[in-house]
Amino acid sequence: MYPFVTVLLLLVLGVLSVKLWNHRQALRRLHRAIFSRQPLLREDLPGASGREWDELCDQTNELIHEVNRLHQQRTGQLAQLEATLGSLQEAVLIVDSSNFILLANKALQEIFPRALNILGQRLELVLHSVEFLNYVDAVRKNQASPQHEIEFVEADRTTWVELTGATIPSLDAARGSWVLFVLHDITKQKKLELVRKEFVANVSHELRTPLSVIKGYVETLVDGHREIQIDDRERFLKTIQRHTDRLNSLLEDLLTLSRLESINPGLKHEAVLLVDLVKGIVDDYRSRPGAADHRLNFEAEPAIGSVLIDPLKVTQVLGNLLDNALKYTPKGSRLEVLLSLRSSDVEVCVRDDGPGIPAEDLPHIFERFYRVDKGRSREKGGTGLGLSIVKHIVQLHGGRVWVESVVGRGSAFYFTLPVRK
Ligand code: ADP
Repeated sequence: MYPFVTVLLLLVLGVLSVKLWNHRQALRRLHRAIFSRQPLLREDLPGASGREWDELCDQTNELIHEVNRLHQQRTGQLAQLEATLGSLQEAVLIVDSSNFILLANKALQEIFPRALNILGQRLELVLHSVEFLNYVDAVRKNQASPQHEIEFVEADRTTWVELTGATIPSLDAARGSWVLFVLHDITKQKKLELVRKEFVANVSHELRTPLSVIKGYVETLVDGHREIQIDDRERFLKTIQRHTDRLNSLLEDLLTLSRLESINPGLKHEAVLLVDLVKGIVDDYRSRPGAADHRLNFEAEPAIGSVLIDPLKVTQVLGNLLDNALKYTPKGSRLEVLLSLRSSDVEVCVRDDGPGIPAEDLPHIFERFYRVDKGRSREKGGTGLGLSIVKHIVQLHGGRVWVESVVGRGSAFYFTLPVRK
């Protein structure tokens, strides 16, 4: 009796285990079908028979069909959006309710060239700006200002962006709304604004010193002209004259710079024999009292012919470089002006064996108002604009300008002028 019951039990257990194993297999296939969004055939679930399994299979297929339809609708609409927004000049970015990037057009890639393949990524991982994320939140809560400026700082690159954000209904209403941003790259304007502010601050600073000196002396003369000794009066007037000259030079240099930077800088080109022009300038400097204590040498390659330049402007370039060489080198220094032919350019070099310029100053030397030694430049009547004028004139002629210098050994300023036939 017992052995029979045992066999029967083992048989029942065996059948149950097979059924259970079949059901687990069927469930696994269902699971896989849902995830891969591939509808099932009834034959795909061989071990699972019965009405319940049939219904489950049908319902799963219905679900998969619906998900596929929604997915197609969504990608279709996104593709349509992408086609519409892709060619816009304005950068466009759309994120979903969880900040996943759904759309980023070509113009956006141009603003953020490092943000490649960003579709499907989280915004936080692509654009690193807390301010931007706060703005996204504010747009979602309807609390954002219509336009907002944000600075994106990456290792060696700062980008200023003006952006407008708005919520738009998502293609899947149940999952919250999306946010659309239109971005403008305003980095150039911001940089220009910064340069303008710096320039205004510099000019004000440069004007303030001579003006306050003049004002002080004039007030002293007005208040005490009866008591002031004749010698003091003369000294005061000479100081006023010196500072007025300084103001005058500053305004003249500023006017020159502004003309050179304008749309029409008014260059008058003509064919000029460069060697003759430069020789004339050097001779003129040799006879100046300020150059009496310097040795001024001139050398030119004979093959240099005529060049198409504005002779007055090139005279100003050489004049500024020679003035500097005379101003910043001690008595007895040797100055050289050399002209050489370099393929399609004439290279002009103004060299001295004076104190030289420290390496850290060299990259800034052609910037407006940049001086190595402020006190010395002012004492010598410098405006800090001479080399900036040199750079502008040379560039307007299509040439290059640069400096080589070693402290204690001297400086060599070079510029080129293209030889145009
Ligand atoms: P500045 O009116 O002060 O001379 P520049 O733009 O002509 O202005 O020159 C800028 C600065 O470059 C000067 O203040 C000076 O410190 C430096 N510099 C120019 N030329 C020389 C030179 N030949 N030797 C040494 N320093 C020079």
